[in-house]
Amino acid sequence: MSTPLQTAGYELPVYPFVAPPELAGERIEKAARRYPVVIIGAGLCGLAAACDFASRGIRAVVLDDDDTIGVRGASSRGIVYAQKTLEIMDRLGLYDKLRAKGVTWSVGKTLAGNDVVYEFDASAQSASRQPPFINLQQFYLEWFLVDRITEIGNTDLRWKNKVIGFEQFDDYARIEVETPAGNYALEAAWVMDCSGVNSLVRDTLKLDTHPARGIDRWCISDVRFKAPLPIERWTWVEAPFNDNRAVWQHLMADDVWRLDFQMDPGCDTEYVSRLDVAAERVRRQVGDDVEFELVWVGPYSYRSQLLDEFRVGRTFFLGDSAHVMSPFGARGGNSAIQDADNLCWKLALVLAGEAPASLLDTYHAERRPAAQFNIMTTRRTSRFLSPESPQEKIFRDAAISLAREYPFARHLVNTGRLSTAFAYTDSPLCDGSGGESHDETAGIALARGAVAQNAPITLPDGKPGVLADLFRDAPACVGLWLGPQQTSAADAIRYANQSAPRLRMVELGTVARGSKGQGPGGRRGHSAIADPEGRLAKALGWDGRTSVFVLLRPDMHLAAALPDPTIAAIRRAYARARGQSL
Ligand SMILES: Cc1cc2nc3c(=O)[nH]c(=O)nc-3n(C[C@H](O)[C@H](O)[C@H](O)COP(=O)(O)OP(=O)(O)OC[C@H]3O[C@@H](n4cnc5c(N)ncnc54)[C@H](O)[C@@H]3O)c2cc1C
Repeated sequence: MSTPLQTAGYELPVYPFVAPPELAGERIEKAARRYPVVIIGAGLCGLAAACDFASRGIRAVVLDDDDTIGVRGASSRGIVYAQKTLEIMDRLGLYDKLRAKGVTWSVGKTLAGNDVVYEFDASAQSASRQPPFINLQQFYLEWFLVDRITEIGNTDLRWKNKVIGFEQFDDYARIEVETPAGNYALEAAWVMDCSGVNSLVRDTLKLDTHPARGIDRWCISDVRFKAPLPIERWTWVEAPFNDNRAVWQHLMADDVWRLDFQMDPGCDTEYVSRLDVAAERVRRQVGDDVEFELVWVGPYSYRSQLLDEFRVGRTFFLGDSAHVMSPFGARGGNSAIQDADNLCWKLALVLAGEAPASLLDTYHAERRPAAQFNIMTTRRTSRFLSPESPQEKIFRDAAISLAREYPFARHLVNTGRLSTAFAYTDSPLCDGSGGESHDETAGIALARGAVAQNAPITLPDGKPGVLADLFRDAPACVGLWLGPQQTSAADAIRYANQSAPRLRMVELGTVARGSKGQGPGGRRGHSAIADPEGRLAKALGWDGRTSVFVLLRPDMHLAAALPDPTIAAIRRAYARARGQSL
């Protein structure tokens, strides 16, 4: 049960503090106070991780210093959730809620003055059931995650539990916690630090984040207009109504528009965020005759941070505690959720004794390059928006003026490349990586380590579903058998049934379009899926002819694509995907 909190034009839930067992006078044996997984921070990534664990039947302890979602009083942070995040939310069972509340969009336009100098429609390439983007205030997504965690009912979510001390040893960590009912300590076999940009754990361990501050200043105005505007992402790289500086315009839930105005770097942030000054800025954009209401106003600047190691001993760093980047391209929250998506299945396998602890090192190996890429990409955008040298300014002006006339120059105009899932092409878990080149003859265009989109399929029970449905009861991997060689498919399925029960094997026929539940050679079987719209083939880039075995990890990244494989080759790829060698 929660009581509402009125803040910044919204009514947010307040979750009650419940004294933890350590303070509730319950007798707990020493061994029982060591928990398998403790998550510090109930923000986007901590909640996504808790929900993922709950869906795998793992009860995590979550410690959060607050008793509500979002940042108290500051409603506007993340707004854009990209397709991979939406697909994860589909697997976790809260996508429909998100879609119903949020604003779905795919068209983005960049303007210089009144000229469109860059335009995209991200839906064109998509094979997924999820749209390219949904806009939603970050606290709503957190709220839906809390609801879903509560609904599954398998998480020890502790509000008003602030971590104030931390030390770790070879086989566990000790965490000190402050609560309204007093302080206590607990132990954790594994810790996921999701406590954001000011992580106490990170600072206690004296880890360098290599911080760099941007000189750019922005001011957010969340605005409700009386008349509707088009549901597209518009950005002005040069907005005449903002002294030729940049402006962002996005619709979020509850008919609230998020307008981000780039400010003079030397501006007085208190002055520019005064309500009368903010209202005047909005009027300069939309005209005096458009009625609107300011919902929230706040300034921000940005910084980047990146840890050297995402795993230190028993502790993993996820989200903003591991990496911080400027908001261009909506990469912070999306990558925080994808950090959780990467680590949870690995930790679940290790806790179940089904994978070696070394599998956990691949979290750093896969997610740090993703963070590096995001920081590099957002830095390029910020330098385009705020050139740091006369040469950069000349390049930017030339790019804008060329883009006004010539389509080839349009991709040079950079107001934020929107977040897409990172491909783990160099991961030790992916067959074909580590020097071996991608085998073009495998019949699969998707690169090893890249993500398969959540294509609509017909499920083994004949019902319509999506690829993510094959992962719902937490298999260790899903093996897709594409192509006509039914003997091999049958052998592979027999192997999985007998020797690899956590490997879900499904088969898809070459002529499955429109033929529900058909397997290779027209056989129907409990493991047969169909691809009636051809979107699974599109998601994998399958040529539709080659017989190929596709191994997908629980995060739907491609672990292996093996043309006409032997059972031994399947066994090797499956072992490798779980960090084992044969
Ligand atoms: C202006 C702006 C716009 C943005 N736009 C986008 C966007 O469109 N899309 C996007 O993907 N991202 C966006 N981001 C980034 C996004 O908001 C962050 O990357 C995201 O919140 C990171 O999630 P997190 O879970 O790592 O950290 P947080 O969301 O910061 O969560 C950390 C949690 O830990 C708790 N905590 C902290 N210390 C302790 C402690 N000692 N003990 C217990 N609990 C503790 C906090 O209360 C909080 O609940 C934007 C950010 C800003 C500032």
